[in-house]
Amino acid sequence: MKTLYIATHNAHKTQEIRSVFEHLPELASRYRLGDLSELGNVEEIPETADSLEGNALQKASFIYEKYGVDCFADDTGLEVAALGNRPGIYSARYANMPEGFEESGLVTRAALSLPDPTFAQNIDRLLLKLHAKPRAARFRTVICLILDGKAHYFEGEVSGRIIEERHGAQGFGYDPVFVPDGFDKTFAELELEEKNRISHRGRALDSLITFLKTEI
Ligand code: IMP
Repeated sequence: MKTLYIATHNAHKTQEIRSVFEHLPELASRYRLGDLSELGNVEEIPETADSLEGNALQKASFIYEKYGVDCFADDTGLEVAALGNRPGIYSARYANMPEGFEESGLVTRAALSLPDPTFAQNIDRLLLKLHAKPRAARFRTVICLILDGKAHYFEGEVSGRIIEERHGAQGFGYDPVFVPDGFDKTFAELELEEKNRISHRGRALDSLITFLKTEI
């Protein structure tokens, strides 16, 4: 039995990922999912690359190099067409970005050195900046798996729109304002299993799972 560590401090992500794996008995007999608490007091994981792929690799490599364990990390960005596909890789730090970032994409060193804002602050900025603009958006996820020292990448995305007011209490991040295409509920109103079935992370996990099955 191999343990695959989920290289994140985000308890919501860990919960989503565990809930996908729970329904796969053929994988459960071969892989167990570990979380960072099992490795001790793991410090903050750096995330300073300029792409989702780069950040996912950086996060997984940090854990692999420090602890020598098989692991995977995901990096996700919310891309809003009317905002030049931003906040993108800066989704977690959106409210810290300088004024005009939506138009220029320019990021200051000072903005990057601040502690992450809250999810609520990031949503406030998004709603303010979108105001009367078209609301099409998508989430994109890249997972980097490091297995036996080799990196493998898996991607997933979901299209939808940003609504004007928050709805729902499940999930995290931008979930209360994101309605996936084909639905009339936000991610924060969907049950975890329903979100996983269609979400960016769920789809990237499907590809990871297909890969892991070929390894068995
Ligand atoms: P991360 O860098 O992959 O942790 O994600 C960046 C940011 O994207 C997070 O801080 C969240 O605000 C947002 N995010 C990531 N995944 C989701 C999701 O599944 N739903 C809503 N927001 C998300």
